[in-house]
Amino acid sequence: MLRARAKGSKSPSYKRPGKRAAKTAPRSPAKSGMRLCALPPRTIAPLSAAVMSDPIRASAIVISKSKWLNGTVLHYCFFKSGHWRVPKRQARVIRAAFAKWKAIGIGLQFKEVGDLREAEVRIGYSVMDGDSQSAVGPDVLTVPLTKPTTVYGWDLTTEEGHSTALHEIGHVLGMEHEHQNPFAGIKWHEDAVYKSLMGKPNQWTRSETFHNILEKLSPEQTQGSKWDPASIMEYEFEAGLIAEPKRYETQDLTPPGTLSAADRKWMRKWYPPLKKSPDRLHAHRPAVVELAAGKQLNFLIEPVSSRKYRIESNGASDTKLALFEVIEGTPRYVAADDDSGKERNAAIVHKLFKGRQYIVRLRMVHPGPTGEVSLSYA
Ligand SMILES: [Zn+2]
Repeated sequence: MLRARAKGSKSPSYKRPGKRAAKTAPRSPAKSGMRLCALPPRTIAPLSAAVMSDPIRASAIVISKSKWLNGTVLHYCFFKSGHWRVPKRQARVIRAAFAKWKAIGIGLQFKEVGDLREAEVRIGYSVMDGDSQSAVGPDVLTVPLTKPTTVYGWDLTTEEGHSTALHEIGHVLGMEHEHQNPFAGIKWHEDAVYKSLMGKPNQWTRSETFHNILEKLSPEQTQGSKWDPASIMEYEFEAGLIAEPKRYETQDLTPPGTLSAADRKWMRKWYPPLKKSPDRLHAHRPAVVELAAGKQLNFLIEPVSSRKYRIESNGASDTKLALFEVIEGTPRYVAADDDSGKERNAAIVHKLFKGRQYIVRLRMVHPGPTGEVSLSYA
């Protein structure tokens, strides 16, 4: 999340303009610095020529890879010692931000745990480093267990810090930076942007500035076709850095720092509320349904004997399949498969135990010619 402070000030003080800034003197790039959420570079696995020839399919596959299956319980844990220790008052803000995201009515769940090794989302804090950033969506699973997946680099207890907490959780949910939306129509004064970010407090290299600001997301990475300048995923930019839209030549771009209507809409669309008790799936009795893109099937499995089972989807569609075991009332991830962009069906072979409960989730990424898909276990 963006933060602005006067150059030369020793302690970081996030300054978001908006209503309050209107009371202060107008800022200019020459007068103030900006602190930006800096994501590390990511590589997106290339898709086959056959997939790329269908832009809708390619887009569905790429967007889906940065999202969790709905219903996933994301366990989060704060570093309690060492370089990344999160002070209690900072942790309180982050907990409240998780609650705010949950309150928009999404089917994802957030659960705090005390052991970093039990957490998909490991949260650190370091004013010394001064960086705020997060892995995006399931990329958090690629971060070594000893490292934070999400880091905060400045005080979160201010109104502006609350926005930072919401922004980084947006990344955890799979959201990208809004100003890199290729449909935004933003043209930059590139030299001014490089110069602004090269200076204090960010001191970014040209490649960091390019990667985090100037570089456009691919159309496949972008959800929706319109720019949402009010998004929590939008940075604040001072007048003079953006050449088009023209109004930002002379006025700051100042997102309100809260969850916008479009933020809520897209996240509820991706993670709609789920039924409390999923339907039961019986062995050897496939469920056959038509599923639209982005829709998800959720079934409860209660095995009648303890043995290896094969859980699989069938159909000419791109699907993601995942198995969870219910442990103390919480579904815990067991295994997953993803046949998106591949000429095969998703399948999981795993030993299931009599007397235990499992949940299987099947997400339709792209429906193919009919959208009909079957889910079975045997
Ligand atoms: Zn960010």
